[in-house]
Amino acid sequence: MSFPTLVEPAEIPPEANSKSSQPFDADNFNEVVMSTYGRFPLALERGSGCRVWDTQGKEYLDFVAGIATCTLGHAHPAMVEAVTKNIQKLHHVSNLYYIPEQGELAKWIIDHSCADRVFFCNSGAEANEAAIKLARKYAHTVLEIANPIILTAHASFHGRTLATITATGQPKYQKNFDPLVPGFHYVPYNDIAAVEAAVTELDEGNYRVGAILIEPLQGEGGVRPGDVTYFQKLRQICDEIGILLMFDEVQVGMGRSGKLWGYEHLGVEPDVFTSAKGLGGGIPIGAMMTKKFCDVFQPGDHASTFGGNPFVCGVALSVCQTLEKENILENVQEQGAHLREGLKMIARKYGQHIAEVRGWGLINGMEIKAESPLTAPDFVKAAIDQGLLLVPAGPKVVRFVPPLIVTDTEINQALQAVEKVLAKLTA
Ligand SMILES: *Cc1c(COP(=O)(O)O)cnc(C)c1O
Repeated sequence: MSFPTLVEPAEIPPEANSKSSQPFDADNFNEVVMSTYGRFPLALERGSGCRVWDTQGKEYLDFVAGIATCTLGHAHPAMVEAVTKNIQKLHHVSNLYYIPEQGELAKWIIDHSCADRVFFCNSGAEANEAAIKLARKYAHTVLEIANPIILTAHASFHGRTLATITATGQPKYQKNFDPLVPGFHYVPYNDIAAVEAAVTELDEGNYRVGAILIEPLQGEGGVRPGDVTYFQKLRQICDEIGILLMFDEVQVGMGRSGKLWGYEHLGVEPDVFTSAKGLGGGIPIGAMMTKKFCDVFQPGDHASTFGGNPFVCGVALSVCQTLEKENILENVQEQGAHLREGLKMIARKYGQHIAEVRGWGLINGMEIKAESPLTAPDFVKAAIDQGLLLVPAGPKVVRFVPPLIVTDTEINQALQAVEKVLAKLTA
């Protein structure tokens, strides 16, 4: 088989591709695309590494990476090659047949985690839906609970389907979408007494806790790392009463934290965990992994038409292999520490406005003080003017989630832009 010659994206001059001299027409766009998003006034057209260009040719340093997704940045040669190769071979056949690429990707995940089996789907919400269904079936068939309850945390985020907005412990995502899915109960994050109380108090009649679904580090909820002792106690409670401990690794997993999985920071292994965002480096794919409880789902219990097609699995496998081959986790640890150090220095200088800098690896948050008039969306808007893309994690936290291949120079440039933003906003 022959492939077209690969174009090295870094060699294309920034001007070569940007032909639109007219500003992007947002009004026309809004006439045809449903307005479910509050978008920043920016239309992006091209990317290379940690940089992207808008329709007018202006360059930005991308510290959003498609919301913690483009782990290898933009137009990475390994991804360009994998996409080209896989689309030419076979892209979709459905799960009526065996898909060798699915087996290879599952094998890679199992070899690099505590998992024993993998189910493939297309997004984070779908991966969590699969976990919720699996937990319910386990509760009914093994624990014999007629009405199983899944505990989740305040300020969590698990997706936008009906079941996953219900699992999400933030009322703003649920408003006007009731009746919600029954069977969820919320507890404060990193508070073990609340979990112990819920497990005891909810044990009545046909109702009992059947699983806990939780993020090792809360992403959307403000970049809040889990406590080691809290997670170890969660593991202990789940083992004692035989319920499932399920981790939502959709944002923190696949190397973003400096370890491949967020749970590796906490010294505990889950029974079930989910992945999506970084798994395909920006190609839509989701996965649910189980340890031990491999035969809860039987043929016919769960399915997806697109889930794990040859194309996405082939590309995701090459993303996984590239992470490994290029020692990218080491870069995440090194540049993550560099970024946090720099942000902490800036935070000290602007101590009136900045409360805290926290995170793991290359998922970091800078929290603005409650009493400061600054907000995260204002900060992000001002950063766009400085050529730096950032994303809020709630109203008062600015999130930094660059591609995992980010360099020393790029971190320094981002830090300079952050300083400029703060100088401007506080002038
Ligand atoms: C983004 C996210 C989801 C939802 O993923 P989608 O692909 O948007 O459905 C679920 N859980 C966490 C922790 C996330 O960050």
